Amino acid sequence: MKEMQKFLGKSANKGIAQGPVMVIKNGNLRIRHEKISNVQSEIKRVESAVKRAREQLQTLYTKASEEIGESVAAIFKVHRMILEDEEYLGSIRNIITAEMVNAEYAVAITGEKFTRIFSGMDDEYVSARAADMKDISDRLLRILDDREDTGRSSEAPVIIVAEDLSPSETIQMDREKVLAFVTIHGSTNSHTAILSRLMNIPSLVGTPLNLENIRNGMTAVVDGFEGTVIFEPDEKTCRQAKERIEEEQKKIRLLQYLKGKENETRDGRKISICANIGSVTDVESVLENDAGGIGLFRSEFLYLGRNDFPAEEEQFQAYRQVVQKMGGKKVIVRTLDIGADKKAEYFGIGKEENPAMGYRAVRICLKQPEILKTQLRALFRAAVYGNLSVIYPMITSVEEVQRLLRIAEEVRDELANEKIPFRYPRQGIMIETPAAVMVSDELAELADFLSIGTNDLTQYTLAIDRQNEKLYEFYNPHHKAVMRMIRIVTDNAHKHGKRVGICGELGADTELTEEFLRMGIDELSVAPSMVLELRKIVREMKEY
Ligand code: PEP
Ligand code: MG
Repeated sequence: MKEMQKFLGKSANKGIAQGPVMVIKNGNLRIRHEKISNVQSEIKRVESAVKRAREQLQTLYTKASEEIGESVAAIFKVHRMILEDEEYLGSIRNIITAEMVNAEYAVAITGEKFTRIFSGMDDEYVSARAADMKDISDRLLRILDDREDTGRSSEAPVIIVAEDLSPSETIQMDREKVLAFVTIHGSTNSHTAILSRLMNIPSLVGTPLNLENIRNGMTAVVDGFEGTVIFEPDEKTCRQAKERIEEEQKKIRLLQYLKGKENETRDGRKISICANIGSVTDVESVLENDAGGIGLFRSEFLYLGRNDFPAEEEQFQAYRQVVQKMGGKKVIVRTLDIGADKKAEYFGIGKEENPAMGYRAVRICLKQPEILKTQLRALFRAAVYGNLSVIYPMITSVEEVQRLLRIAEEVRDELANEKIPFRYPRQGIMIETPAAVMVSDELAELADFLSIGTNDLTQYTLAIDRQNEKLYEFYNPHHKAVMRMIRIVTDNAHKHGKRVGICGELGADTELTEEFLRMGIDELSVAPSMVLELRKIVREMKEY
């Protein structure tokens, strides 16, 4: 593609970006099986791929140890060590030499062999290394196949163009180095789209591109307002984009006067406006935008993009940092909502026909309570350092909540017996299934507070997969059924003297702010970049 070309996608986040493109090709790695004549040159290809992989792992190690901590970073060290292992490399060389085959094939076969050996071991720690073996082989194959590493940080910030991006791929990206996302597939309600909103960068999904025509380093302009991307823009387009970027920055500057002000209508009705986060680093933008607190910390992102469960200590450090940085403002941490699109192989969920209705969130926690217990221990310990509450996702019944509260009490008693400092936090419930709406009067009695997850509530009420880009025309988040449900939940919460918030994406929908206030919603929790915009709307309201 040499000439300027424009594509129309669907906007998943507003904003304008201009910069070089980095293409990420997904899908299963195609393994060619080819007979070769020059053994030495194939071995050389492997050696230089190993060298490149070691460089990548060193970068990842440095980045992870600075941003997350040594305990997570250590995994990249382990990967480097495996790459030095003579048995592993020897096996690749032997296959090339004995079978006269290409490097890719030898790496794939060796990877499979080692993965099999590790997963068959009795020792839990060793068997968990099977996933590492697969990771390493995939890394080598990507390099041999000339594909970019998703976790790699490029020098200059780039516009990521991809077939699709999973939440676990997105969470591994260096936020400072991403200007925008453009994907061929994906939906505006997916967690990858939500992550782009948390990162506050323009993002397009459902963009009809042919990746074969897009090269790394091409210039692109992404318009998250119009939903367009222009490759190889001409001078005029570049100038206009620059002007619009400046305009946007000016708008943001103009909102700054609202910092420190109340979210109060002209006739005195106040509402709390909090922010949603997915990682410790997001706290910076929560503070920058003067949010009243954190209404939803999607803790499951701590579990993604890695090969093993985060240990209690590592989780404790993350939660402690968040509550401390928030300096006494409230922080609501959701227990892990793993499953559906948020996949981590080591959970062993396997393939499901209907993952959105499958083994996920508290269902995992109730069937494997040791996973929840580790998280609750870390949370209760971190609660000592600030204003922390816990919220449980995907609730469908009173019985589930009773079982969860019993587990929480066990954790409380265990910590007390072990004389470990902790605080027993307030515990809330997410209302994101129609079943929870229907029993919200009883749930409100049990819980300390309620928070409505409109993303899933809309998906389950309308029976429309929030991930499916083909269903846009049917996915109506303003549907009367959803609005009525929000009203029912609000009334039931208030009947029991409990607060109720909205932490799904609908909370940031400025067309509905007035209606939410009228219903009596106590709190809206939105992407940090939306806090001041909502405050402005609330403050301009005369009567709610
Ligand atoms: C929701 O479902 O509205 C919600 C807040 O949770 P998530 O988007 O992470 O599923
Ligand atoms: Mg949800």
